[in-house]
Amino acid sequence: MRKSDLSRKLSQLEGFKDPKISLEQYKTPGALAADIAYNAYMRGDLDNSLLDLGCGTGVLGIAGLLVGCEDVTFIEKDQDAVDILKNNLESLQIPSRFYDIKVCDVRDVSGRFDTIFMNPPFNVHSEEGLIFWEKAFETSDVVYGLGSEGFYPAIKELSDNARFKRTDAETYRVALPPTYGFHTELEEEIKVEVLRLIQKSSR
Ligand code: SAH
Repeated sequence: MRKSDLSRKLSQLEGFKDPKISLEQYKTPGALAADIAYNAYMRGDLDNSLLDLGCGTGVLGIAGLLVGCEDVTFIEKDQDAVDILKNNLESLQIPSRFYDIKVCDVRDVSGRFDTIFMNPPFNVHSEEGLIFWEKAFETSDVVYGLGSEGFYPAIKELSDNARFKRTDAETYRVALPPTYGFHTELEEEIKVEVLRLIQKSSR
């Protein structure tokens, strides 16, 4: 599938019906998710298992499935989001043997995964965002994570302690829906960054 087709498909997925601000629910734009999945595929990061941590309506993990990953685990604590995720998977007719869905808190995740995709709660200074990063470093050797531009220093200590290094950083402009804007009812454009980090001793 061409990247533009993937991007369009992902953009058409159903998003959060009534985003819960307290959970920082925000759907990753299709073009961005397509880029992450293509890059990961090209680097051989999607040959085995993928975990979509805080999957929401599933755009990141579904991007992984659509570029050929056959072992995706979706983790999300909000049942309303999971119901939409299930609709999205069914509408694309993705065989259920390729994925697993767990409704739980990120704190309760265990096991090992080859690669992680995540768009965690944006405010990495809040406990919640850091818990995602901590869990990611604990359960995988290759992590693709989104944050606001320049967020790396906020996770650097965690990353260093887990012996991870940053291998890639890519900045994107995305539209932030008015619900998340601070002073305006209009859609705001912000910059986000996608980092790829790997465990130093893994390769
Ligand atoms: N990955 C999706 C959603 C990103 S928004 C996408 O890229 O489109 C962040 C998601 O994390 C939300 O769906 C929110 O419900 C979920 N979340 C927040 N805190 C969580 C926690 N402690 N455990 C599990 N999921 C959580």
